[in-house]
Amino acid sequence: MAESDCIFCRIAAAELPAQIVAQDERTVSFMDIFPGAVGHALVIPRAHSRNLLDVDPDDLAAVALAAQRLAVRVRERLGADGVNLINSTEQAAGQTVFHFHVHVLPRYDGDSLRLPWTPAEADPAQLAQLAERLR
Ligand code: AMP
Ligand code: ZN
Repeated sequence: MAESDCIFCRIAAAELPAQIVAQDERTVSFMDIFPGAVGHALVIPRAHSRNLLDVDPDDLAAVALAAQRLAVRVRERLGADGVNLINSTEQAAGQTVFHFHVHVLPRYDGDSLRLPWTPAEADPAQLAQLAERLR
């Protein structure tokens, strides 16, 4: 995708409006316009990458640090009781904007958000086989 067609590149370049809450040499953090929780924000690298699979490792590290700073801030300033950091990589995982980003999702005691899966106990043999394939 050409960077001029990427909405997050355009936000990073200040060509599109956003409620920016923090920025540094490598990252920009801004409010999500369709929030899933009060204070839901996104952290992006300034440099374009599609997602977790191709992001520059130094940009990934910078995004992780910026997300940690924002997580601390949503606790201090918004009174969040917890935080989920969420990344969706590729359409199968629900990615809709193809510029790497991490969601900083403040959580509040008793809120109605749930995990996107239903935990079910694994078959130990299958776990061992999968682990072997991943080593
Ligand atoms: P994902 O579905 O993980 O790719 O997340 C993309 C996120 O970007 C969604 O939560 C959208 O609400 C958010 N989003 C899309 N366009 C904008 C925008 N112009 N400003 C802020 N957030 C946006
Ligand atoms: Zn981009």
